[in-house]
Order: sequence, then C-alpha cells, then structure tokens
Amino acid sequence: MNNIPYEESNLYKIRHTAAHVLAMAVLEWDPDAKLAIGPPIENGFYYDFQLSKTLTEKDLSVLEKSMWKIINKNFPVVRKTLKKSEAEKQYRKDQQPYKLELAENLEDTELSFYGIDSFWDLCKGPHVKSTNEIKALKLLSTAGAYWRGDEHQPMLTRIYGTAFESEKQLKEYLDQLSEAKRRDHKILGPKLGLFTFSELVGSGLPLWKPKGTVLRNVLDDAVWELRKKKGYQKVEIPHITKKDLYITSGHWEKFKDELFLVKTREGHEFAMKPMNCPHHTQIFASEQHSYRDMPQRYSNTTMVYRDEQSGELAGLSRVRGFTQDDAHIFCRPSQIEKEVKDTWDIVDAFYKKFGFKLEVRLSLSDPKEPEKYLGKPEQWQQAEQTLRSIAKSRKVAVLEQEGEAAFYGPKVDFMAKDSIGRQWQVATIQLDFNMPERFDLYCINEQGEKERAVMIHVAVMGSLERFISVLIEHYAGDFPFWVAPTQIKILSVSEKAAAFSKEVFDGITKQFRAELDTSEETLGKKIRTAELEKVPVIAVIGEKELAEKKVTLRIRATQEQKTVEIKKLVSYLTDFSLLS
Ligand SMILES: [Zn+2]
Ligand SMILES: [Zn+2]
Repeated sequence: MNNIPYEESNLYKIRHTAAHVLAMAVLEWDPDAKLAIGPPIENGFYYDFQLSKTLTEKDLSVLEKSMWKIINKNFPVVRKTLKKSEAEKQYRKDQQPYKLELAENLEDTELSFYGIDSFWDLCKGPHVKSTNEIKALKLLSTAGAYWRGDEHQPMLTRIYGTAFESEKQLKEYLDQLSEAKRRDHKILGPKLGLFTFSELVGSGLPLWKPKGTVLRNVLDDAVWELRKKKGYQKVEIPHITKKDLYITSGHWEKFKDELFLVKTREGHEFAMKPMNCPHHTQIFASEQHSYRDMPQRYSNTTMVYRDEQSGELAGLSRVRGFTQDDAHIFCRPSQIEKEVKDTWDIVDAFYKKFGFKLEVRLSLSDPKEPEKYLGKPEQWQQAEQTLRSIAKSRKVAVLEQEGEAAFYGPKVDFMAKDSIGRQWQVATIQLDFNMPERFDLYCINEQGEKERAVMIHVAVMGSLERFISVLIEHYAGDFPFWVAPTQIKILSVSEKAAAFSKEVFDGITKQFRAELDTSEETLGKKIRTAELEKVPVIAVIGEKELAEKKVTLRIRATQEQKTVEIKKLVSYLTDFSLLS
C-alpha cells in the first residue's frame, strides 16, 4: 500500500478523465444529451445524462468503442479558466441546464474547465496529461438517478464505468466483481430458501423461512454457548416502549427521526425500540446491587427497528428491522479489564470458527480536548490503557483512532476479512460512562457507599441479518457442516430402500439436522437437487447399501465418496462435525 490518498492518485485521475471521455462519446451518440455530473468513485466513475433517446445495455459497447477512438487520438487534457458570467452564457447558448445550474451555484468568479479536443467540462480536476494514459476501460451498467439526488427533480440516466492503469488490473477487478456477483446474498439467500421479502410486509423487513431460521438459531446458540461459560444470563424485553425511556437515555434527541412511533388508543406515544440498552438499565436498576453481585451480564438476542430511507435499503445489509445479539455488562470500574478480556475471548473464539481474520480498531478520546468527554480523565486514561494492552496481548492488527471515541466511552470495533478480501465491521465492545449516570446505576461497595457502575455494550455478530449476508457471501452459500441448515440429506434410491432409509434418518435426527428424500425422482435428479441446496453431506441408500447395512456418503467440501456402516454413522458425522 502506498500512502497517496486515492483522490490524488493516478488511478483517480485516469477515472476522472475517462468520465470526460464518456461525456464526449455520449454527445456524439446523442447530440441533444444534457450533461449533469461525472465524478470518479471508489471503484470507477459515472456520468449522469438526460438523454433524448433510450439507452440500452447494448449501446454501452458502442459508447465504449467511440471512447477508445478518442483515447487513441491521444488528446492532451488542458485546463483553462473562464469568468463565471462567460461560462454561464456559454452553457445557456449550448442549452445545458444542469451545467448552467452547477456554474450558477459556484461562488468563485473564475471557473475552472478541463478540455479534451473541443470538449470543455466544468471541473476542478485533477486529470492525467493526455488521454492515452487511460490503458484499460469498461462501461459496466446504467441506472436511474435523480438530479442532485432529489426525488422531486428530473430522473437522469447514470452510466457507470471503470478504468485502470493496465488491462491486468481491469481483469482482476472484473473477476472480483463477478465473484462477488456469484456470491451475492440477495440472490443466493432466497435461492437457498433462507429468507424472502414481501411487498405487503414492506421493504427492508426480511422474512425468515424455516432454513434461514435454523441458521439464525445455530449462530445465536454458538454465541450463547460462549457467553454462558462467561457467566452471562439471558433477559427478554418488549419491543415497544414509552418515549420517556429514550428521553432519559438521550436517544430521543439523537435518533428521533429514525424511530418508528406507535400511538396507543389513549393517545400515548410509544416507540419501536431502536436499541436495547435503555431497557437493560431498567432490569439492572430494578433491585439494589451489592458489590458481591457485580458484574451483571445480560444477553438478549432481539430485534430493533430503525426507519431507514427506502433508497438506502439493500438485501440483508441494510434493513428496517434487524436482530442484535446484544449484551450489556454492568460492572465496577475495577472489573473493566476482566470483562473486556472475557468478551474479547468470546469474539475471538466465535470468528475462529469461520476462519475470518480479524482486525481491530480502537476508538479513543482526543487527549487535546478532554472537556469533550464525559467522566473523569483518569477513568478514561485507565480504560484506554486497558483496551490497548489487551489488544497488544492478542497479537492482532490494531488501528488506533484518536478522537474517534463517543463522548461516553472508548470502543473496540472488530473487522473481519472475507474469502474474497472484503472487510466487514462485525463485533463491537463499547465502554459507557454515560448511561449509568443518566439512569443512576450503582452498586453498594465494601464501605457501604454507592459506587457508580460502568456499562459495557457488546455485540458479537452485531446484526444477525448483516452477519448472515456476510456469511453467505464468504462461503458462497457452501456453509460448513456445523452451520448448514440441512447437514445431511438421505436419498433413497428405490422403493425397496425407502423403509431402511427412514430408519437411518430416524437414527440421526436427534444429533443432526437431516432431511430424507424418498421421492420417485431418479437418483441423478435427487443428487442434483441436494447439490443445488448445497447440503454438505449426501447419503445414498440403495439395495446394495440395504443388504450391507451401510450408506454411501458424498462429501461436498472434498468431493469424496465414503462408505460407512450404519452403526458407525453417528460417530462418523460427529467427528466430521468437529473437523469442518
Ligand atoms: Zn473533470
Ligand atoms: Zn447497548
């Protein structure tokens, strides 16, 4: 990695220049096109146009060809400035209303333009020196986009493309793109029968089918098994709440635009809970705690609701109702270290199961502005030192971000790298000195005095919906044996083997998630179906197996076939479960 920011890199200049060339190609194809904006973006560039004819995906290759014609002429990219009034006059004359509006809204008196051949575009740069520095190029897709992102404004046509410094880089990018597409949870999830959406229920509100529900429970149980060993207890809370709770917690001020509000028949205002912490404080506060009862650790997997804008919703990654595997620890300041360590152990153990590599971001206070933070500076120093030293002892990559802490406490965010190199934010451990103040949470210490409690917010998966979307894409739907909703599918080859198949099925359903297929389909068809369902182990039972009291197993992960005696099947699968 070099240290040049993307905005100053050569790649950025190449993409920016490619956007201008795209505008030239579009004007050649549709001389009446009105130009809007055309910036470089993270993985390429786009340009928005109001077109006078319909653009199909096929036209993209026509545009791409004329872009290459322009690029190959190796035009220099030059800059000039125009007086604002002159620029506006020109855009009026050229009938370019969007460019005119952009120019009008700029405060400078001299406006900057970049030109390629005779095409000049209002632009601050930077650009490459000449067009043949664009070595590789691809127009990718089109989409509708409102002018200025405002739904009351005209809908424009956005053309997305990407450009690189070499064909090789472009190919690598396109390969990753098609790999990501192949793994897309929005397509794979419904295909594997995990979840669905309904127009009647509403966007951003996924419905979990039986297999998806099994998957959720398996994951949640795995987190719970780890938490149970560390002394957590399960709690449960209602999903609607008087708004007073959020006024006290401070969330009303911060989140009121994202809250779903519910009015009772008596006219009282309630809200769907956007988080669980305030409820949990009330469980803690319901009795007086001696230092001997501390810490209290509440675990609660439960759904929260946030009114996201419909344009922002995407599959399971951005939803309106999502499930947090939430936990809150109420402890004494002197117990912070042990609690954070224990929690970190849980996070490590959980992510190890999937082979995710974790990276850690420490969000710390800004030492130059101690007044920004709630609580005593010594308390902060100590807490931050604790987080640092724990991070150090874990031998993980740690990025310290000074000034990124919330006013109420420092936090640790865990990032997981998936199988195609993308990074996702997953678990979080957050210290909170604020909520205990607001809700007056304390324990009685050894001297019989009140001691202010510290609250630690912990999520291991974070949002189950988001975590499952990451998991689907990480494995491309090929879940390991311990996670797969159906672990083993038994296929009975013929009528004669059906009864025996059922017997085998009954013998393993207590320990394993099994399915039985005794349909009249051919064996080939049954195998194909099970393969499409991505079942990790397929067990075939025909007359030979019936006679020998055996099953033939087809192992998805290794493509192996194995014959196993029926009486050894459970122990074989148990070993298999531990290994995969
Ligand atoms: Zn430009
Ligand atoms: Zn919380």
